[in-house]
Amino acid sequence: MRCPLCGNKNGLISVMKVAYPEIEYRMIHCPVCGLTFAFPMVEAPKEYYAEKEWYGERWEFAKVWEIIKGGSGNLLEIGCGEGFFLEKCRGKGYSLYGIDINKNAINKAREKIPEARFYTKLCIPLPEGFPEKYNIVCAFHILEHMSDPVKFLKDINSILINKGLLFVSIPSPRRAQKI
Ligand SMILES: [Zn+2]
Repeated sequence: MRCPLCGNKNGLISVMKVAYPEIEYRMIHCPVCGLTFAFPMVEAPKEYYAEKEWYGERWEFAKVWEIIKGGSGNLLEIGCGEGFFLEKCRGKGYSLYGIDINKNAINKAREKIPEARFYTKLCIPLPEGFPEKYNIVCAFHILEHMSDPVKFLKDINSILINKGLLFVSIPSPRRAQKI
């Protein structure tokens, strides 16, 4: 086993075991770079995200908005759900784009924010009709679900303009529940 971020394989610490009905893994801490990662790193079944809905307000939305307000250009949110964050950004200078694999959530987002463009598949490069480059990309609580987070970050880098901003939030290991 190697740390997916820095490649270190020495002194990795098994922090806890996580078990859901469909999926079981351990959380491993890398003492070199400080990352805590799931092993094996498998994505939950697609249906899991396609059916369950737990979207809502997050405290980081307001923090990010404080940083990006007053700007303009293309703003893409990956994992936008029903569009809670994009709704905050409406009519304030950005062209809004959202991706989520949950079709029900995207339908609701489309109703709420008709001027934004949405898509129900995560693929980079993005489909026709989407700009090639973005000034801002947000991915709240997405990175920890990726089986290859480094590739995901590289993909995002390829669609950001020079000096574009990426906002990512991830769960804190200190708030994880032990099972
Ligand atoms: Zn590491």
